[in-house]
Amino acid sequence: MYACEEHIDFVMEDFIDQYNAAPTLELIKATEDKPCVWCKQHAVYSLTLEEEMEETPVAD
Ligand SMILES: [Zn+2]
Repeated sequence: MYACEEHIDFVMEDFIDQYNAAPTLELIKATEDKPCVWCKQHAVYSLTLEEEMEETPVAD
């Protein structure tokens, strides 16, 4: 997901709703042209899902 400065809070809530996890927030390089998921304007943040550590099965 991508978000502009203005909608980062909304997009973050959406993200948490969708993935039930907090996103990893990164700044997008100015050269990358990504649309904010809310307003379709130039996004400045990238929200990604941090991979969860797999639970190690308990060896018996
Ligand atoms: Zn926006």
